[in-house]
Amino acid sequence: MYEASNARYDGMLYKRVGNSGLKLSALALGFWHNFGSVDPFEKQKAIVHEAFDLGITYFDLANNYGPTPGSAEENFGRILAEDFKSYRDEMIIASKAGYQMWPGPYGEWGSRKSIIASADQSLKRLGLDYVDIFYSHRPDPATPLEETALALDQLVRNGKALYIGISNYSGQQTQSMIKLFRDLKTPFVIHQPRYNMFNREAETDLFPILHTEHQAAAVFSPLSQGLLTNKYLNGIPEDSRANRTSSHFLESKQVEETIQTVRQLNEIAVSRDQSLAQMALAWNLRVPEVASVLIGASRPEQLVDNVKALDHLAFSDDELKQIDQILLR
Ligand code: NDP
Repeated sequence: MYEASNARYDGMLYKRVGNSGLKLSALALGFWHNFGSVDPFEKQKAIVHEAFDLGITYFDLANNYGPTPGSAEENFGRILAEDFKSYRDEMIIASKAGYQMWPGPYGEWGSRKSIIASADQSLKRLGLDYVDIFYSHRPDPATPLEETALALDQLVRNGKALYIGISNYSGQQTQSMIKLFRDLKTPFVIHQPRYNMFNREAETDLFPILHTEHQAAAVFSPLSQGLLTNKYLNGIPEDSRANRTSSHFLESKQVEETIQTVRQLNEIAVSRDQSLAQMALAWNLRVPEVASVLIGASRPEQLVDNVKALDHLAFSDDELKQIDQILLR
């Protein structure tokens, strides 16, 4: 029987999400990998227990996370039912619709039909009456933004979601969505873009708009799927994402292409008395618009390591300059 640590709120930082009333843990647990039907259930449980004990309150899912698609929600639903019933109101649980989930024209993208059906499926798999945040996972070029916004708004009106988010929308699309949500009075609170030292597009395309609009981001792949850790410094370990056959999202080629840069970044991390993962997370959190950083973890120890990023968040101008120079080389 799981009992949460009494010290769970002692070390975490909670950041206000834009100008909303919502606060998110500065580090969140993502379920894209490691929670599928191919992954051992007991290990999944151990990761979720560790996350909650460390003060992580935000749990980020999507309809298609697995593999197989849907199995991450089913597994998390089982963990919630077995261990977290009495903690539900301490948790922010998010899901998304947009990537392919079921066959035919309604199983993906952003039509009203697809969004509403997908949200209903997610709630069933999770065993919940509502999620705290529901995201449109990607913009749909074939559906008017207004239709997607209205479908998301309806989820809130029908009590299936408390807040709304969007993910992978460009700065310009985000601006349009913010206007639509404002007119509808939808509780839109968050954008979820990719952001890490190797992917800095959000700095010019998105963050300035979020700043002007008093909105926030929860950023994904902050460790570039593990590249920005000390994991690959001496080759590709067997138990790593770059070596997994059930995931084709991180190729060994990417490890080889980035390793020189990673070694140089690691030297700066060492000089700051941090692991590279900790420095990469702190670097993301230096952006005022970033309310939360969504990390993946294949074992509980990685979360313990990552949360220590909060012990040293500040960067000197010189450190930031050195990091920029390494990344530009
Ligand atoms: P990360 O960049 O945090 O990569 C996670 C991986 O890094 C882990 O699985 C692990 O790899 C490795 N790792 C983590 N901590 C450490 C550590 N301390 N030391 C060594 N290695 C470490 O994030 P993800 O790419 O997994 O994305 C995080 C979340 O963001 C997702 O789960 C999802 O919720 C969200 N996301 C959203 C997307 C969207 O389109 N909206 C797209 C992608 C992600 P290993 O498995 O090799 O041990």
